[in-house]
Parts: sequence; structure tokens; C-alpha cells
Amino acid sequence: MKPVIALVGRPNVGKSTLFNRLTRSRDALVADLPGLTRDRHYGEGRVGERPFLVIDTGGFEPVAKEGIMHEMALQTRQAVAEADVVVFIVDGRQGLTPHDKTITDFLRKSGRKVMLVVNKSEGMKYTSVTAEFYELGLGDPYVISAAHGDGVADLVNEALDQAFAQRPADAEELEPQERGVKIAIVGRPNVGKSTLINTLVGEQRVIAFDMPGTTRDSIEVPFERGNKHYTLIDTAGIRRRGKVFEAIEKFSVVKTLQSISEANVVILLLDAQQDISEQDAHIAGFILESGRALVVGVNKWDGLESSDRDQVKTDIDRKMDFLSFARHIYLSALKGTGIGPLMRAVDEAYAAATAKLSTPRLTRALEEAVEKQEPKRKGGTRPKMRYAHQGGQNPPVIVIHGNALEGVTEPYKRYLEKHFRDTFDLIGTPLRIELRTGK
Ligand code: GDP
Ligand code: GDP
Repeated sequence: MKPVIALVGRPNVGKSTLFNRLTRSRDALVADLPGLTRDRHYGEGRVGERPFLVIDTGGFEPVAKEGIMHEMALQTRQAVAEADVVVFIVDGRQGLTPHDKTITDFLRKSGRKVMLVVNKSEGMKYTSVTAEFYELGLGDPYVISAAHGDGVADLVNEALDQAFAQRPADAEELEPQERGVKIAIVGRPNVGKSTLINTLVGEQRVIAFDMPGTTRDSIEVPFERGNKHYTLIDTAGIRRRGKVFEAIEKFSVVKTLQSISEANVVILLLDAQQDISEQDAHIAGFILESGRALVVGVNKWDGLESSDRDQVKTDIDRKMDFLSFARHIYLSALKGTGIGPLMRAVDEAYAAATAKLSTPRLTRALEEAVEKQEPKRKGGTRPKMRYAHQGGQNPPVIVIHGNALEGVTEPYKRYLEKHFRDTFDLIGTPLRIELRTGK
């Protein structure tokens, strides 16, 4: 499981500057797609080989002075409760403020590991910029400049060391061959996730999820269907150390992100009896960003009049058109209908995500595509595509080599993507096309 770092501090200390620095290095698989809202408060980062999740608790301004703790309580409580390590940021230029003290009290009660970080410290001496912050009683402060990047990698490495030091040892792992495809079921509250889990693995297993004394952060539940092994990733059993604020909401973005990143295939569950909401789109955005294989499960299909069904399909296709690469399966977790097609779509998506595409086949498909429709000239030169090879799996990356490829337009790239998708039956996986000019 990726460690979770929460960034906490009063407004303007540099939380979002640090957040952007920590998360921007990821090359996004997803361009800005219409209809897709991106959540800017949760992101994935990486230092060296070490991935982590980061939560920015700021950004809900303007905050009235007397309301600041109220706001803090609302936005920050959940983030702090779910974090392994809290990075508490103060402003080295402005110095210590009463709000910093209030936040310190709040964090102390949380029982979380807190790292005090003095930001905006570029060009300043450690002793002078940190002196007044010792009063907070949080030990030696770390100094960074979020804007310039000074000290940031060290800070994160230290935070990750702390996070791992606190984690309970993992329980014994299952034999890899028995696990099969790892599946995460995600969706907003009440779409029917638990019901679907019950239908797939049976009531008893699910009850075991919440057994006290569970020490693992995520639980893998093996199950079989049609002689095939699968493993369900479930983060419902997340039990953090210490008595926190007790109020972790039923729906948790962190748990959603964790289970997506552990899965081979994600089932995004939607509720056919409700309108598609912003929250659905958010979750879809996380899945897209992860590059995971996907099946869209439209649940509660049983409760719909057949006259309404076409309308619901059209509505989902329109609002979620950025998910058109994935199969939409209409099911009822409650009645157990559509489960066979759902699992076949899971198998298909996994096969697509891990498909091996040979250079001759890819190159042939590329030639066919160009024959049907040539790329447009740009400034007198026409992009010339020579051959294609597979640059990665899961999701598949197709690297096209040639000359003057910087002239290839976005629509033409999408045309190529569709052509490869159709040729190789790549249903249910994102697909990335990379263009390389030269040699
Ligand atoms: P947030 O409200 O805590 O998310 O703070 P922001 O990230 O929006 O930063 C508030 C202001 O501080 C912005 O004007 C930033 O450019 C500035 N800032 C952030 N980090 C640094 C830093 O390391 N050095 C300096 N000098 N300014 C910074
Ligand atoms: P979760 O919050 O996503 O885990 O959702 P639950 O599994 O707790 O389901 C929320 C509610 O929707 C419960 O009352 C379920 O009985 C109901 N529900 C779940 N699946 C279906 C379904 O396929 N059809 C209908 N009609 N109701 C369902």
C-alpha cells in the first residue's frame, strides 16, 4: 500500500505549491477530457522508486477568521485520520502565528506522526528561520522551499521512512498463481459495492472484513468463478493505529485510490437509478489517471422500467464518454443478474491490458491505418511513420517511429489509437500512443 502524506497548515503557507511539486512529475495518461473533473486535492507522487499518495487539505478559501477551525475540522479531519504522516507547514517568512499553535493542538490530539516543516526558507539560515518554531514542541523543524524545491526530496524520504516504520508487518501472502486477476470495486456511496462483493464472494467472507484485530491495510479476498481464480481488493478493513477522530466517512478517496493502485482491473460501479454525479466523474478520473484496466458496471438495472433503459444508457454514454474504451455492463448486484458478463468483461480487460503486440503486427496495423487515411502535411512536410513497437504493458504503450512526427495532430493520434484498438481488440484498457522522430 502506498503511504499517505497529508499536507496541513493555514492558508498561504505553500501547501498547494508543495502539492504541485510533489505530484506534477507524473506524466498524465489523461489529457483534459471533456466531462472529466479532476480532483486537485489528491495526487500521486514518487521520489526515486518510492510512490506515495498526497493530500492537500487547503484550497477552500476564503476562510473567515473565526471559522478557520471549523473549516479545518471539516476538511482536514478526514485527511489527517487517513494519513500515515502529517506534514505540518508553517511560513518561515511570516513567522509563528496563533493559528499555527491552534493547529498544533489539533494535530497533537490526532495522535498522528507530525513533521513540522518551515517553508519559504530559501536564502535563509537554518537557525534563524527555525528558532521561533521550537515553541510548538514538535521537535526539530525541517526547512524547505516548496517554490524552489530545496529540501523537498529529503523531506519526503524522511516522511516515507516514518510511514513505513509505523506500519504493521504484512500478513502472509497468497501464492501468486492462486490470486488470479486482482479486482477493485469502486464507486460512490450506495451504488451497491458491498452488495456486489457479497454476490461475488458470499456473505461470510465480507463479515470477516471488519473483524477487530485485523492488522493489514488492505484485505485480499480470493474467490472463484467458472473455475477461475480472482482476488478482490478491499480496503474496507483499513484500521489505522491509535484512536483518531472516529469519523472517517463511509466513502474515502484514499481508500479508493489505494484499491485502484493495487488492482489489475477496476470495476467502476454506477447507480442506474440515480443521475451520474460529479463524484462519479471524480472517481472515473482517478481510474483514468492510474492507467488501470476498467469495466463500467451499471448497477440496479433491476429497478428500471424497460422504457427508461435506453434513456439511462444514452445518458451514461454521453456524460461518461471518456470511458468509451471500457465495456458497460448492466447488472443487478442484488438479484445477481449480469454477473457472468461482468466477469467476462473483467477477463477481457485484463487480457487487453497485458496483451503482447509484436512489432510486425503493430507495423502492419500502422501501415493499414496510414493507407486508409494519411496524416496531414504540416508546413510542407508530411509526417512519415515507419514502424511501431510496443513500449509497455498494462496499459499498452505503442511507440511509433518515423520522421517529422511532431506534425501529427491530436485528432490523428486519436484516429491511430482507435485503429489499434479495433485491430487488436483492446477493450477495457487505456492505450497510449507515443511518437518518436529519428533513426
Ligand atoms: P496554500 O494556501 O498553503 O496552498 O499556499 P500556496 O501554495 O497557494 O502559496 C501561497 C503563496 O506563497 C504563493 O504566492 C506562493 O507562490 C508562495 N510560496 C509558496 N512556496 C514558497 C516558497 O518556498 N518560497 C516563497 N518565497 N514563496 C512561496
Ligand atoms: P455501497 O455503499 O456502494 O457499498 O452500497 P450497498 O451495497 O450498501 O447498497 C446500497 C443500497 O442499494 C442497499 O440498500 C442495497 O440493497 C441497494 N442495492 C444494491 N444493489 C442493488 C441492485 O442491484 N438493485 C437494487 N434495486 N438495489 C440495490
